[in-house]
Amino acid sequence: MPRPIHATIHTTALRHNLARVRHATPDARVWAVVKANAYGHGIERVFEALRGADGFALLDLAEAERVRHLGWRGPILLLEGVFEPRDLELCSRLSLWHAVHCDEQIDMLAAHKTQVPHRVFLKLNSGMNRLGFAPQRYRSAWARLNALPQVDEISHMTHFSDADGPRGIAHQVQAFATAVQDLPGERSLSNSAAVLRHAQAPEVRADWVRAGIVLYGSAPDHPEHDVGHWHLQPTMTLATRLIGTQQLQPGDTVGYGSRFTAEQPMRIGIAACGYADGYPRHCGTGTPVLVNGVRTRTVGRVSMDMLAVDLAPLDAAGVPAGVGSEVTLWGASRSGAVLPIDDVAQAAGTIGYELMCALAQRVPVVVE
Ligand code: PLP
Repeated sequence: MPRPIHATIHTTALRHNLARVRHATPDARVWAVVKANAYGHGIERVFEALRGADGFALLDLAEAERVRHLGWRGPILLLEGVFEPRDLELCSRLSLWHAVHCDEQIDMLAAHKTQVPHRVFLKLNSGMNRLGFAPQRYRSAWARLNALPQVDEISHMTHFSDADGPRGIAHQVQAFATAVQDLPGERSLSNSAAVLRHAQAPEVRADWVRAGIVLYGSAPDHPEHDVGHWHLQPTMTLATRLIGTQQLQPGDTVGYGSRFTAEQPMRIGIAACGYADGYPRHCGTGTPVLVNGVRTRTVGRVSMDMLAVDLAPLDAAGVPAGVGSEVTLWGASRSGAVLPIDDVAQAAGTIGYELMCALAQRVPVVVE
């Protein structure tokens, strides 16, 4: 028998979350962001549920090829553009749109011999200071691109750094508006946080939104932005079973480093999930977990293949638990109780994105 751990990808939830994005941005087209193998879900597993989007946005050519292989004929956008001149060949062959964020990418296009003109998203660095042309260089970059016979269509994009944080987006929206003023072409500004928090403004919705984490039912960045408020549904469940139990006496410790000490008699369960499955080792005592749908906590250090959970709340409530009991690390339990991935992420000092992306290869995945 294989270990009892498995992940479930919930396609109904993916469809539901996409519909929420549509609802928030009714007049915009939606890039479904499926980079990093669809945030750890698997491009092939999410494709059918997300094909109601207007395009797929991702990072590397291999992922773009996979999306084309699935039969998608619509737009695909390479969010970071190309890395080498030979990538442009594949862009033409796969009919990809690609970001252009630096002079070197314009040089590559200028030197490229192509039959099929390219559709590009010129990227403005409006304050994130990651990729993109500085505002004072933007229009000259556009003019250079516009003069190239290799380029057919130039759209405009920028990326927000703090759409759900205290700095907000107003300064970046303003910088973008100034840089692109009067230039032809479509516009795209918003990621999930902007869709969730600022999409009532038409200039924020613009022509395209780029929705990533919201499709996967997790909050962008700030734990207080409870996804329940947005009626999002979890798209990934990580579940396993108890494979052992222990009765502890006061003074007994649990796991490597003896990081948890029982203060009173208590029962713990040993769940078949560890950091080699993608569960964060930083989740020390106190990380929420569901056993048979009842919320309890982890105790002690997470090991490579196992972690310990406190069974005291179940014993106190008279809920039977033992070897074979269902353990939900995040997502939905069979009883319907939900443990938001963001709650686990918060306990681990990270974000839902990282947990999803870190799901280990060895974990079997079921699509439902
Ligand atoms: N657009 C760009 C350029 C990105 O790099 C990303 C992800 O980092 C996204 C959109 C989607 O972001 P999110 O998952 O926060 O919606």
